[in-house]
Amino acid sequence: MLLTPSQTRCLFQHALKHHYAVLAVNADSHAAIIDCLEVAKQCDSPVIIETSLWQLTGHSFGQGDAILGMARYLADLAVLADSDRYQNVPVVYHTDHIKGPDTLTILRAAIQGIHVLIAGQRLSLSASSISLDSSDLSAEENIAYMRALCEAAKTTNLSATLEMEAGVDDGITELEETRSLFGAVEELHPGYLALWAPGVGTQHGLGPGGGFDPSAVEHHQKLASEIAQRPIGIALHGSSGLTTLELQSAVKAGVSKVNWSSESLLIRSQAAQRYYQEHGGRLTKGHPNFKVTAMDNGVQAFVSEAYLPAVCGRMESQGSVGHGRQFINSIKS
Ligand SMILES: [Zn+2]
Repeated sequence: MLLTPSQTRCLFQHALKHHYAVLAVNADSHAAIIDCLEVAKQCDSPVIIETSLWQLTGHSFGQGDAILGMARYLADLAVLADSDRYQNVPVVYHTDHIKGPDTLTILRAAIQGIHVLIAGQRLSLSASSISLDSSDLSAEENIAYMRALCEAAKTTNLSATLEMEAGVDDGITELEETRSLFGAVEELHPGYLALWAPGVGTQHGLGPGGGFDPSAVEHHQKLASEIAQRPIGIALHGSSGLTTLELQSAVKAGVSKVNWSSESLLIRSQAAQRYYQEHGGRLTKGHPNFKVTAMDNGVQAFVSEAYLPAVCGRMESQGSVGHGRQFINSIKS
């Protein structure tokens, strides 16, 4: 079930209350999306499917056009998530690391809805939750952009669920920044922020890690919740290098969303590499298995076999297994 922004806010609060974090997979292909939903179903876990700008403009989705890319991504996810097969899986569509001159145009569309025409029916597709990449923005710009997104929701009378970030790759963020950044958005537009992503010592990519500080999570989570006067979860970026124990301590300290990209890409691409190494001999004229080997289904089914257990392991580490149906029942009652 694809969650609305209000339902997504409930999910983050549910995660905090029940001490788990939702896995947010940066899924960059249609095959990766269905793999994530399949694991979530098997593990009875909520899942966040998120896209960065590079996916929206990439070959599999928008081919240079981010809005078209988001429409294709959302249409694919909506059809899947709302099908009978995944009705009991809470699915969030989140915009992650959107940056550059079109940031506000893309994210306003994600909040206000992208209109698509399917079989003569006009549909409006919108994101479940929103964040942007603030790494190239000044503090003032970061605040102004987040306020503009709140206004985009307010002027159209739509709900929006937002994650705000600050220096996620720059070591430990000072608590003062939670007041000056998160506090500035909350003060003018209370109620839209659901997640806060400060730097807590992690790094994007596949580096050695080692700098993660769970106490920073705890202090930021407490302060953001005090400022907002409601529970605010911490969104953890750069989780690829973390051990199971570190992930567990992150959740215990108040992380309710864990972004996962680099390691996920590594597992998928290495599996594809093995597939072509093991089956490359069949990719020749006249080989009886040429077609089944060459077709997209061949490599994707092989990748899926290696990928599903890894995603499941992540969900287990983050404590989200067994919370899917329970959450769906809680929002239906
Ligand atoms: Zn990130």
